[in-house]
Order: sequence, then structure tokens, then C-alpha cells
Amino acid sequence: MIDKSLLKTFGSRENPLRSSNMTKLKHCPGYLVAAHMFGEFEEDTAFKAAHTGSAFGKAAEIYHRDYDQSEPTESEIADILKATNHVALNGEGEGEGRQDPFQNYDSKKVTDWLKMYCSDPRNHSNSVYGEVIVESLEIPLELVLPPHKIDKTRQEIVITCHLDQVRRHPLLGMPVIWDIKCVERFETTQFINPYYAAQLSVYTKAWEQRFGEKAIMGGVIHPPSYKGFKLVPNPGTDKKKKGKKIRVEKAVHECNVFLQSGFSADTVDAQLDQLRYLIALIRQGDILLNSGPHCSWCYYEHFSNCSATFKV
Ligand code: SF4
Repeated sequence: MIDKSLLKTFGSRENPLRSSNMTKLKHCPGYLVAAHMFGEFEEDTAFKAAHTGSAFGKAAEIYHRDYDQSEPTESEIADILKATNHVALNGEGEGEGRQDPFQNYDSKKVTDWLKMYCSDPRNHSNSVYGEVIVESLEIPLELVLPPHKIDKTRQEIVITCHLDQVRRHPLLGMPVIWDIKCVERFETTQFINPYYAAQLSVYTKAWEQRFGEKAIMGGVIHPPSYKGFKLVPNPGTDKKKKGKKIRVEKAVHECNVFLQSGFSADTVDAQLDQLRYLIALIRQGDILLNSGPHCSWCYYEHFSNCSATFKV
């Protein structure tokens, strides 16, 4: 049985939440409470996918720190991959900001995606998508929100996060929040922005709180979407075959890797209000259960297991 007195500090300074868990909270509050109390429960394949995502994130970070003025050479890409592998094996940093090792990653996927990412002009420092703000790479942030009006604990809500990257909009001059997601599950990629909207809302507001400047929620950068595209020196060039003009290659910059959220500042606030409401319910011991495909990654695995434990 759940000790409901423990739930009163859920998402407080004493018991903060991670932004990466906001999707779980939206899917099913019971899922997040279980993860919070009993630890994450994930399939081996999800474990490998998570490590592959971490490895690509690290490789992209190294690229933007040292190489994004132009397309790197093959030997520079090899250096980026070598440095990534070093972190994958040993972890990096100390204390709260420490990155744990992620050695179970798929190096072929990371190599393929990185080559495309580095050759994509949208990722070079003079891109129309804006220059990456180097100080934003993997920066740890904290978002503090007031409790919802129904929240009797009156405790502030604390959510910690690590940003992937923020770019400076070339025309507006505003910071644009981007998150790199390497998920390949079809059902997720189809709805990737709504799926991660809560997490991106946390990033956007956390940036505003830390730096005191309005930010735009950019969206998701999805490297697996490079699949099927080729590096072409003269993008968009058609070739002739048997007298017919056909398009034989697609240019890297044509592929739909930048998935813009299109969410306004009001949407960000609405997302955060929902999170505050769900957290208030959990703190008072009312844990909503919403079964779905995500049950297979949950500690309880099936509605028949959790429903006996969580009685609203
Ligand atoms: S098994 Fe499904 S419905 Fe039950 S807590 Fe987990 S995710 Fe929610």
C-alpha cells in the first residue's frame, strides 16, 4: 500500500520532480507515483534506446561547443565520437549535475545521425534556425512554481531539468528552446510535440526564471528522421535515367528533423497549470489512473495491478 503521508511532499523542494517525468505525469499520475516510489521500470530495449539518446545528445553538444562553424571533417567527426565514447564509458561531472555512464548505446545509429546532423546547414552557426547558445548546452536548471489553488499543502513545486540546447533566433533575437529526442517508436514520433509539450514547457519557463528573458518554445529535433536521406553536395539536383528526369536523392536539409511545436506562451502556461493541478491531486492522495500503451513501462504493468493499490 502507498503511504499517503509521503505524497504530501510530492514535487516539493524536499522531494523534487525531474522534467523528463512530466510526460509520465500527463499519461498517468499513478505511473509517475510508482516510478517515484519504486524506481523506474523499463524494458531492456528502452534502456538501450535511452543510452543511444544520451550518446547522441553528448555528441551534438561536443559538436556545437567546438565544431559548428562549418561542416566538420571526417577526422573531426571521429574525434567527436571518441570523446562521446569516453563519456559513455566513464560518465562526466560531479554532484547533482553528474552524467552517469551510458555505455549500452548503439554506436552505428549515433554515428549515422551525427554525420547527417553535422552536414545539415540548419545546425551550422550561421543557420536560419539560429546559433546555438553554447552556455545553454546541457545546463542544469530548476523551475519553481506556486502550488495550485486547490493544493492544501501550500508548498511550492520544484522541477529540475537539463536543457539540450537553446538557439538565438536570428531575427527576433529571442532564445528558442529545443530538445533532442531520438525515440523511434512509431506511436511517439507521430505525435512527438504534444507528447513532450509538458517537458518543453518546463524548459521554457525555467529558462525565463533563470535568465529573466522571454523564450520561445521551439520544439523537438529528431535525428532518426534523417533516415533515408543522403548527403548530397548539390542538394536538390535531379538526375536523368533513360531520358527521364527523376529525383534520386533528397538533400539533408529537406528532411523533417526540426519538429516545430508551434506553441505560444499561453500554451506553455496552460501546460504548467495542468501539471500544478495533477500534483495537487497527488499531494492530497487522489491518484488518477489512466491505462494505455505506457502501462508496459510502468512498475504495475497493468491496470488490474495498480487499481487495487490506488483507490481514489
Ligand atoms: S499500470 Fe497503467 S494505469 Fe496503472 S499506474 Fe501504471 S500506467 Fe497507470
